[in-house]
Amino acid sequence: MAQDWREEVKTEKPYRKPTGQRRGLVIVNTGDGKGKTTAALGLVLRAVGRGYTARIFQFMKHAGAAFGEHRALERLGVEIEGLGDGFSWTSKDLERSAALAYAGWRRAREAVLGGEYFLVVLDEITYPIRYGWVPLEEVLETLRQRPKKVTVVLTGRGAPEPLIELADTVSEVRKLKHAFDAGVPAQRGIEH
Ligand code: ATP
Ligand code: MG
Repeated sequence: MAQDWREEVKTEKPYRKPTGQRRGLVIVNTGDGKGKTTAALGLVLRAVGRGYTARIFQFMKHAGAAFGEHRALERLGVEIEGLGDGFSWTSKDLERSAALAYAGWRRAREAVLGGEYFLVVLDEITYPIRYGWVPLEEVLETLRQRPKKVTVVLTGRGAPEPLIELADTVSEVRKLKHAFDAGVPAQRGIEH
């Protein structure tokens, strides 16, 4: 007679025991749905709650941005900085946007390589990469060269394949619905 199913359940391990070492990760949040940046901020919250240091660079926000997250993070003592001059499609001077993005990237690169931060968020970095403002090869090289303990979170739609390849954890946030499509404008405390 076949073994009682309860016996099988008892002997089956609920999960496989990890065999690797703990280390910093490259995490990518991509896709066309809502939640890429907010998930990255959730990780910042988690890290800071553990007493670790975190720093956030936002490639598509300008320096003075004071959205909800900027106000809350200021209270937490987490550095968050906008590197851009607003959204590219309203930018009158694309060359200036490109130069700003690249200069900002070089600062973010220092933070990743410096090893001073447990967690570094490169928010919406996929856009300047796609525009050719920040060379993908430089980003990949920086991620490869970073101190082992540093975790880097990169967000934005359309993450390039080589970045996905290099990353440890990649999540695609897929839009099933978005209120914007029903005509609901961006709202305080929800979108910004
Ligand atoms: P969030 O910051 O809310 O986590 P996100 O980072 O996933 O969103 P982005 O692609 O960075 O989204 O979009 C920037 C802005 O557009 C955000 O305010 C976001 O809420 C909004 N948004 C996200 N997805 C969509 C969508 N599918 N249609 C319209 N607006 C969207
Ligand atoms: Mg975002």
